[in-house]
Amino acid sequence: MTIFSPLSDCIQHQLFIELYEQLEEAVFILDAQLKYIAVNPAYEKMVGYENDFLVGRPLSVYAAEFLSEHERMLLEDVSNNLNDKGIYKNSFTMTNHFSNTLNCQVTLKKTNIENNIFYIGTMRDISSAAKDKQQVLHLLNYNQLTGLPNRKVFLSQSNDVLLDSYQEVIIIRLNIDRYRTLINNFGQDKVDILITKFVNRLDSLELENLLCFSHFGGDDFGLLFESKDANLVRHQLDSLMQMCERPFIIDSNSVFLHISVGVSYYPKNGTQLNSLLNKAEKALHYVKQQGGDDICWYSDELNNITLDNIQLESELRQAIAANQFEPYYQPKFSLESGKIVGFEALVRWRHPTRGLLTSKSFIDAIVKYKLSFELFCQMATEVTQQLSHWRARGFDQSISINIDAAEFSHPDFLGFVTRLFERYHIAPDRLHIEVTETSLMLRHDSVQQQLIALKQLGATLALDDFGTGYASLSYLQEFPFDCLKIDKSFITDITSNPTQQTIVKAIIDMAAALNMTIIVEGIETESQRDLLLKMGCKYGQGYWFSRPVAADVATAMLA
Ligand code: C2E
Ligand code: MG
Ligand code: MG
Repeated sequence: MTIFSPLSDCIQHQLFIELYEQLEEAVFILDAQLKYIAVNPAYEKMVGYENDFLVGRPLSVYAAEFLSEHERMLLEDVSNNLNDKGIYKNSFTMTNHFSNTLNCQVTLKKTNIENNIFYIGTMRDISSAAKDKQQVLHLLNYNQLTGLPNRKVFLSQSNDVLLDSYQEVIIIRLNIDRYRTLINNFGQDKVDILITKFVNRLDSLELENLLCFSHFGGDDFGLLFESKDANLVRHQLDSLMQMCERPFIIDSNSVFLHISVGVSYYPKNGTQLNSLLNKAEKALHYVKQQGGDDICWYSDELNNITLDNIQLESELRQAIAANQFEPYYQPKFSLESGKIVGFEALVRWRHPTRGLLTSKSFIDAIVKYKLSFELFCQMATEVTQQLSHWRARGFDQSISINIDAAEFSHPDFLGFVTRLFERYHIAPDRLHIEVTETSLMLRHDSVQQQLIALKQLGATLALDDFGTGYASLSYLQEFPFDCLKIDKSFITDITSNPTQQTIVKAIIDMAAALNMTIIVEGIETESQRDLLLKMGCKYGQGYWFSRPVAADVATAMLA
């Protein structure tokens, strides 16, 4: 660059020297042999050697007497480039005199002044730019609160592990329960502290085989394990749950954090990250649906359960509205004469697409979605109509109907039953009511009054599945049952199992002493019938006599 100015050469020269001295960029000048002629103060500061020391020494080696092979090649490369193109640009790291590592970007340019070759070089330390870049990378890859790798890193690490793992790879999704409530109670800042404490505590467990512990944000975490056998990770997860049994202290309050954990693993649940992650999330969702604070390992059944549950509720409501429930009748027999002594009505769902469904697949959902009373109304109406129909044909029968104790709490329960009896002119003792011990256990107080009222109305009361719940004996005292039904689990092996025989015999004797009738469920073979008869049991039902059948088949049996 030439400055066209009225300034003398001497002043111009002085100005250039000033500029050279003040430049923030490190500048160095070399001779044709790439030895230092001069360096500016910025260069001195950067490399840690003074101008006087460097002058006459070869480029970049500073104090070295001999060049290493690598340095010799580097210098050769520099001079070749400069000879060919007149310019050399490169970035490299070097250690300066203060033992600091510099990321340098060097540019050297050849110049010819009065037939002398010089090289003018500039050097920039790009370490701080690299630091900025590192910070940006950190922001992009790590959670700012906990410093844990974020979801993006978790996914890419999981992907890498899945690509070349010969072991089982376990993908875990973890949520802290009631996160919103915690924030409402303590505020975001305190919850952030809580989360940090949680992370530290988990870190200190030093879980074996843990490859990545990731914070997706908020209450949401991911863990990646690799192990010979996924089952080995189970006890690691147990210690994770146990870790939450100790409270966290916040503002001198003890706070318990509960966690929900969903697990899937390669290769059993899939080979692709997407599908594994999905399944772990499905398992997590399931845990949360069930109230949280638990671990769930993905299985295909779970897939059906969750799907079914969502569909089931609305389908059940439609079924009630469309009267799709109907009773099937299983006859009860006199073990001695083989004659029918009554029927038990068992609900069946005539599903529009799936055919006839037994109660197993939906009865728990009926209770869960509080549809028991509606179901009872439909069943009781059908059953009373059936009784009235049979009576018209000369069959004086009784039918028992199963009731969940939840149905008793409905305010119109007694009113509904009374109206039915009146409308179809049915003697109340023709209707038997079966209640299970388990359902009594859940709503003890409210039910007792209702059962007594039913009994006063004239209905016959039976305790179903006797022996499978608890406190059976005290129930016999508190509730006015006429009949005990011995659960089929006591009958399955009765011919070969002396303990079952002893229990059944004791129940039969006790019922006789209390003036109660015994009905045995689940008689499937002739030898079971024979043995029970010998033991003093009078009535029974089971597949050996008849499976539950449709109303017209039951009518044919009576005829
Ligand atoms: P439960 O009242 O103890 O009914 C007996 C169950 O055993 C019936 O199953 C019946 O089909 C089955 N069973 C009868 N004999 C045999 C046998 O010899 N061997 C075997 N393995 N099983 C036999 P189901 O119909 O699936 O009903 C299951 C349970 O669902 C019933 O047990 C009852 O607790 C409940 N349930 C049925 N219908 C209703 C209803 O309308 N309302 C309510 N709340 N619950 C009902
Ligand atoms: Mg029953
Ligand atoms: Mg039963």
